[in-house]
Amino acid sequence: MTDHPDFPRGSIWLVGAGPGDPELLTRKAERLIRAADVVFHDALVGPEVLKLAARSARLVHVGKRSGRHSRDQASIDQLIVSAALSGERVVRLKGGDPSIFGRADEELGAARAAGVPVRICPGITAASAAAASLGASLTLRGTARRLSFITAHARTGEELELDWQALADPAATLAVYMGKASADEVSLRLLAAGMPGETPVALVENASLPSERCFHTRLDLLPLAARTALGDGPALLMIGQAMAKITATASIGLEPAIRP
Ligand code: SAH
Repeated sequence: MTDHPDFPRGSIWLVGAGPGDPELLTRKAERLIRAADVVFHDALVGPEVLKLAARSARLVHVGKRSGRHSRDQASIDQLIVSAALSGERVVRLKGGDPSIFGRADEELGAARAAGVPVRICPGITAASAAAASLGASLTLRGTARRLSFITAHARTGEELELDWQALADPAATLAVYMGKASADEVSLRLLAAGMPGETPVALVENASLPSERCFHTRLDLLPLAARTALGDGPALLMIGQAMAKITATASIGLEPAIRP
């Protein structure tokens, strides 16, 4: 039986599964997944990654995708903690990096409160995978000096509470997670805060997967592009001058349909 000095029975690892392509998993993540007695995973974790688990391991889907029924966070916290308390090696496998819009804090807190050892194995976040797919850098020396990861997921009927003035910085790149449904609001608010309508925008759906699709548009046409181009998969909105340099994508209405 292999020894796992950093993964004793009764402990939890929050493991980043990366953006989908199993080759974008870290070697550490792979080792931990192979060693786990139980793997609690998200909807965004691909089947190829799950295949790495031992045959004897339990795979438990605790997926959350907006709009679909899912377990609430408190019951996920409870599930992973009780599995560890019963002596299992627990992997909590999350899409991308666990510490970016991954509810890691709640799970760390629940484990610590129960006296269960818990650690994080980082993963490649979706924005990095999207930049790679676009063949572009997220930062540009002198022009895009700031990179903001934001989430534009609002509860139904609620407005997004973001500092739009600060986000409308022309020297920044915005990577908007969970922003598909809010693309209209993101576009309108940034325009209202003074960001130029021609600011380049990229949309990347299913980054790093065979079903990946990339689109190129501009800020004022983002609502149209998000409505018409994107399908069911997870998608990122990437906004800023750095997106002027992308290659190999379809363009959506790069010229405004109606000229003044
Ligand atoms: N922890 C994850 C993010 C979880 S939030 C990470 O670090 O990547 C879920 C959001 O991530 C999705 O709504 C989408 O905006 C983005 N996302 C995750 N995987 C993606 C992928 N393969 N392609 C594009 N966007 C993705």
